[in-house]
Amino acid sequence: MNKTIWKSSAEIQHALKGARKVAVFSCGWCANLSEAGGLKGMDYLAGLLRGWGKEVVMQRCFILCCSHEGMAQAMRIYKDRLEESDALVILSCSAGLKSAFLCRPPVRIVAATDMVGSVPVTWVDDPVASSACISCGNCVIAFTGGICPLGRCPAREKYGPCPDFYTGRMECAQDPQRACIWSEIERRGDLAALRELAALHAEHGEDRLSSPSHKATASWMRKTAGRIVAGVRGLPRMVPFLK
Ligand code: SF4
Ligand code: SF4
Repeated sequence: MNKTIWKSSAEIQHALKGARKVAVFSCGWCANLSEAGGLKGMDYLAGLLRGWGKEVVMQRCFILCCSHEGMAQAMRIYKDRLEESDALVILSCSAGLKSAFLCRPPVRIVAATDMVGSVPVTWVDDPVASSACISCGNCVIAFTGGICPLGRCPAREKYGPCPDFYTGRMECAQDPQRACIWSEIERRGDLAALRELAALHAEHGEDRLSSPSHKATASWMRKTAGRIVAGVRGLPRMVPFLK
């Protein structure tokens, strides 16, 4: 899922400057799982908005804000409400925000959240789970025991630790408050193979196998979206296209 976190209150209020009537769309999937969306996040934001003197014209939670088609349908259904609003606040990852922009709604779009990377859906406390992927384009985690070095190493070293690692210190040279993640990567992964991978990426990093057609997948998603959504609990007030 796309891990999503709240922006500061100052930034949200800055983006809402001059807006009195506000509508809210909240994503029931990634932002919900990140505790920065879903019904709970939507109600929390609505409370904040009222506290800032705004009128909440409408608030709706629906699944997969990242679907342009779904977002367009929600915008059509709530067109009148959006037209009477001064701003539409989106609680979702940046893909959901982008699908809102693609719809060109008759209202200012405001982001209340930031997407910080991709993580698995789990409650397990482990660096594999907490090292968010920032989509660098040449993944190395098959050689690092599943830990994304870019998500945990302040020096953004991807193919091996910084020189300070070899002094034997346990804490990070750039942030002594935390342990150097490369000790764990060394235990779980294969640093020699990772160095070889660095050379491979340098030479062939942009070479890709060509992809097979995705038409079949798109059609399967259209047919099964309703059933998938129906199986997800705790998502009342979804827009009708997700019934
Ligand atoms: S190395 Fe890290 S940032 Fe790059 S693709 Fe893999 S998980 Fe994502
Ligand atoms: S000490 Fe470890 S975590 Fe810190 S910058 Fe160097 S390699 Fe990265």
